[in-house]
Amino acid sequence: MNANQARRLVVLGTGGTIAGRANRANDNVGYVAGQVAVSELVAMVPALATCPLDVEQVAQINSKDMVLSVWHALAARVAEHLDRPEVAGIVITHGTDTIEETAFLLQTVLKPSKPVVLTCAMRPATALVPDGPQNLSDAVAVALHPEARGVVVVCAGRIHGAIDVAKVHPYRTDPFDSGDAGELGCVEEAQLRVFRPWPQAVPEGAFDAAALRRLKGAAALPRVELIFSHANADGEVVRALLGQTAAAEPLRGIVVAGTGNGTVHDDLLAALKQAQASGVEVVVASRCAHGRVVPHPGQPLPDSAGLSPVKARLALALQLLEA
Ligand code: ASP
Repeated sequence: MNANQARRLVVLGTGGTIAGRANRANDNVGYVAGQVAVSELVAMVPALATCPLDVEQVAQINSKDMVLSVWHALAARVAEHLDRPEVAGIVITHGTDTIEETAFLLQTVLKPSKPVVLTCAMRPATALVPDGPQNLSDAVAVALHPEARGVVVVCAGRIHGAIDVAKVHPYRTDPFDSGDAGELGCVEEAQLRVFRPWPQAVPEGAFDAAALRRLKGAAALPRVELIFSHANADGEVVRALLGQTAAAEPLRGIVVAGTGNGTVHDDLLAALKQAQASGVEVVVASRCAHGRVVPHPGQPLPDSAGLSPVKARLALALQLLEA
């Protein structure tokens, strides 16, 4: 294999605003996501013309509508390309709304030893000043970095680890934050400055094949619902969930986004205890934008080990899949 082949990249398209189309160039919100082919997005970035690339359209969706079948297809394509010795890394174009969930899922399941870089945009491809081409270009710089590994999200010149990244703003072009952990690094004129270790990777091989088999074998993820504790929370929503018999998947878990340090309204807690007694796993995360539940003796519910509510929901579903 020559050096050129070893630097081959794969770009997988899944849709999102980066592939969005609006009727007017000055409309950054009234667009339809997932319209422009990933091959066209790649063609908008001149620097990619000289980079050996394979480009595939895995899906073409608004990521708010993410479903398990797309995750199955994406994880399978990522794994297949990771196994190719000539592939240095993978870039995935994705919507910003659930990019943190897809990144978390791919990192938790695959733990890839090569970089898997998700990128996105807050403005559609048709915008007066689209942010997608620069983000895609930065993502390529990350995927080609010789030390890069694991799943990261690249947006607005910042590299975020899959475990910590969260979308924190609905409009600005730098909408992600990695909370107390801080971003992993940044991309400046295609050069990386790396501040923290790359995400954990499998000790050998390209990815965790056993975990991928488990995911692929699941027709559905174990059903885990996400609810909030808030003023006047009375537990009625939990009792409704417990009483629901027509659901396609039986209820296996509940994540409650608690107030502050994972505290839960007494009336909601009583209903959650009832859920636990009927065999439903209950985990508490914090609804605060930053920080984590600080564990303490006598806490009434197990906590999410620092994961945000949406990630705790996925983590519990994946854990139940293994059980
Ligand atoms: N709704 C879009 C999506 O997640 C938002 C975006 O990409 O910014 O696909």
